[in-house]
Formats: sequence, structure tokens, C-alpha cells
Amino acid sequence: MIDHIRQLEAIARQLEPTQEQRSNWNASIQAYADDFISNIEVLKAYDEPPTDGPIKLAIEETGKGIDTILRELQRKVDRAGINPASGGHLGYVPGGGIFPGALGDYLAAVTNRYAGLFFANPGAVRIENELIRWMCKLVGYPEGSLGNLASGGSIANLIAITTARDFMGIKAAQVEKSVVYLTCQVHHCVQKALRIAGLGEAVIRYVPTDERFRMDVDCLHKYLRQDVAHGLIPFLAVGSAGTTDTGAIDPLDRIAALAQQFGLWFHVDAAYGGFFLMVEELKGAFKGIERSDSVAIDPHKGLFLPYGLGAVLIKNVEAQYNSHFYSANYMQDAQKAQEEWSPADLSPELTKHFRGLRMWLPFQLLGLQPFRAALAEKAALCHYFYNKVRELGFEAGPEPELSILIFRYRPAKEEMNRFNQQLVEYVRQDGRVFLSSTTIDGAYWIRLAVLSFRTHLREIELCLDILQTGVQQLEGTRTVEG
Ligand SMILES: *Cc1c(COP(=O)(O)O)cnc(C)c1O
Repeated sequence: MIDHIRQLEAIARQLEPTQEQRSNWNASIQAYADDFISNIEVLKAYDEPPTDGPIKLAIEETGKGIDTILRELQRKVDRAGINPASGGHLGYVPGGGIFPGALGDYLAAVTNRYAGLFFANPGAVRIENELIRWMCKLVGYPEGSLGNLASGGSIANLIAITTARDFMGIKAAQVEKSVVYLTCQVHHCVQKALRIAGLGEAVIRYVPTDERFRMDVDCLHKYLRQDVAHGLIPFLAVGSAGTTDTGAIDPLDRIAALAQQFGLWFHVDAAYGGFFLMVEELKGAFKGIERSDSVAIDPHKGLFLPYGLGAVLIKNVEAQYNSHFYSANYMQDAQKAQEEWSPADLSPELTKHFRGLRMWLPFQLLGLQPFRAALAEKAALCHYFYNKVRELGFEAGPEPELSILIFRYRPAKEEMNRFNQQLVEYVRQDGRVFLSSTTIDGAYWIRLAVLSFRTHLREIELCLDILQTGVQQLEGTRTVEG
């Protein structure tokens, strides 16, 4: 028996590599990361994936050398498809990946502190709650508000919607009469969350938008009066603070007033736009966000952190707790009197990564100043692009409120939608920058979203150059053909 245990131990101990082994792996990983970062400016923002299929490395009983593994990873993953870490990533709301964030993740994984319950690690929970309170203050919530660090905006929205459902007392029997108000510009994860939260059969009122894609609040008012008159139960209004398509901010203050008047829960999806509140000149546009009941805000967007960190902020923590708390016999040690709310009692998660460290460490190392400047810079770059692209003869959507804008080219002869699709394809094949597109009321628009911390003037000028050349080539080809 003992012999058998010792044999197993000898193999199991491979899970604890020696100092030398760790140093070797560390050195290879560090070299890989350094190579990635120092080449980021020449690496493409979009690269066609290699054509020889999936990762070649099988999952086997014994391990392989790190260099073999990293080579495969580089070819099949890190040099393929969209590169969200690139400053040329101007397509979907870009990712970040600031280095100190990665160090926070690394430390959190090595020490594996548990930040789910105050009882298990008061220090870790305090750090997470302190970050949440900082964000609450940013949106103007009073003391005593809290929320949760979730994996992203989708789960943050889900937690808010679930809390709203329960706080408003929406039971299964009432779902069909319950009404949710939003615009067609709301992020699709809101509809997804409504369905997951059992509200798929609720009435969804799509409130029309104005010419800048913001909720028409007079229309919201009209719908509310009608719905009340018809015996329906208006219970939730969702506003956007930075829509995905155009970065539009709904008139939050006016929605808040109606929400108050009609007794609705008012949720604001600020997953993309929320951190622009750190920029003094942009604050005004968010007026009224402080009157909401809950906010979703994504540090893995606006704070340039690696993917995997969204936050929900909720004024009424009790309500959040009542929707998410659960107990079990094997949890009895955790139920002591607590001076801090426990994240596990405020979210669907129990065991989780100590994800607060990836935000806390960069804040400690760098301070807030560079984040503030970067956000102001991105908004300014978007404005700069807005002016320049029109000088190049493009037609642009509304003047950007934050750092997203839509634009398109009106070609001499060609059908407009088709021409712009080809232009996006041209940009994608060039690969140095990456742009996305959207369709609004049947019209195809090219979409620029500036939120990579690596996007500076150089990348914006490069994008303008590529677009200009693209238009020339496409128009040129046409003339020759036609
Ligand atoms: C990105 C985004 C979401 C979804 O958040 P994830 O972090 O991708 O889950 C929701 N709403 C808005 C406005 C967003 O930009």
C-alpha cells in the first residue's frame, strides 16, 4: 500500500515543478510575451488563419517541451484571426491587455486566493469590494451601493436584470403582462439576459430612437401611459450609455425621471461607455446615470484590461443579495457575521478566479492618470477621424459622443452597400487595421471603434490612408471594367 502511494506520489509531484523547471518555463513564456509586445506594431490587426487546420498537439499522457507548444500557439492562435491586442484593432469594441493586468492574473492564479466569501479571505474580498465601490462612486452612486465583479458585461447585465425582476416582484404568472422598455440599439446580451432570467415572454417595447440613435423619451412616456392604461405591468427600463453601433448615450436623466414616476427599475448598460466618466469633459453626457438602479460597466473594455472582467453596480445591495444568496449545509462555516458583503452571495458564481487583482494591481502600479488620459485620447482620436474621413469624401453618421463612429463612402456609380462591403473586405485583406461593419435601417455602415490602449495617432492616420487607397483602387477597378 505505502509503496503504491509513493509510486503515485512520484508522478503526482510533477504538478509541483522544481524551481529550475519554473525558471525555464518562465523564461520561455516571458520571451514569448516580449516578442509579442515588441512586435505588436508590425503584427497585423487581422491575419488570415493558417489553412492547415486545428492545433497539431494532441492531448496525451505525457507532457511536451514548452518551445514546441509555444510555436504551435503562435502560429495557430496568436498570429491568426483578429488581434484584439493590436492598436490597429478598430473594429469591435477592442480589447486591451495591459501588461500589469496580466501580472495580476498570474499572481492570482499562483496564490489562488479565494475571493468569493469574506470568511475565506477578507483581504481579497475587500479588494474586490473596494474596486466596486470606486466604480459606484464614479457613476455617482451613494455609499452603501455595491455590485459584483463578473466575467463580463453580459453576466453583469444578467445579474442586474435578475435583481430587477425579483425586486419588482415579477413572478412567472405575471411575466406575460410585464413590460420592458429599451431601444433596438441596446446590446443583444440584454435580450439574452431577459430570456435567461425567465422573462422571454415579457412584453418588450422597442422605443424608437432619434436621429442620433438615442431613445426618444417622449415616445417612452407615451408607451408607459398606454401600457398602464391597458393593465400591463411596466417594470424595467434599460438605457444605454454608449451603444455598440454608434456609441450613443440615451437621455439618461429623462429616462430616470420617467422610471421614478412610473415606478420602474432603471438599468443602464454602460459596458462600453462607462469609463469615459473618468474624462471630465465627457461627464455631462452621462447625466442621470446616478439616478439609475443598476449599471453594467466593463473594465475589460474601458480600462484596457485583459478579457474576463465586467462589473455590475447596484444601489440596493439587499435586493441583489435576495436574488442571489443561497445557503447549503456544507457552507455553514461561511455564514458568520460579516463586515463585507461576499461576492458569492451577490452573483451566480461560487468558486471563481480572484479577478479583482488584475484591476487592482494596475491601479496601484500606474495610478489612475494614464487611464484617464488614454480614454480622453481615444475620444479625441475618434473625433479627429470623424473630421478627416469627411474631408476624404466619406459620409459619416452622427458626431461621435464617445469613441465609436459609423461612416460610408458614396461611390460614383456603384451600389453603395456593396461598395462599402468591398471596402471593408479590402481593409481586412490589407490587415494592418481592422474595421467592422453594421447595418442600420437596412443601410450598411463601416464602423470605427477606438478603444485599444495601443491606438494612437499613428494607427488612425494609417487607417485613413488605407481607406483612401482602398477607395481609389475600388473606384479605379470599376472605371477600367466599366
Ligand atoms: C460589450 C458590451 C456588452 C457585452 O459585454 P461582454 O463583456 O462582451 O459580455 C454589453 N453591452 C454593451 C453596450 C457592450 O458594449
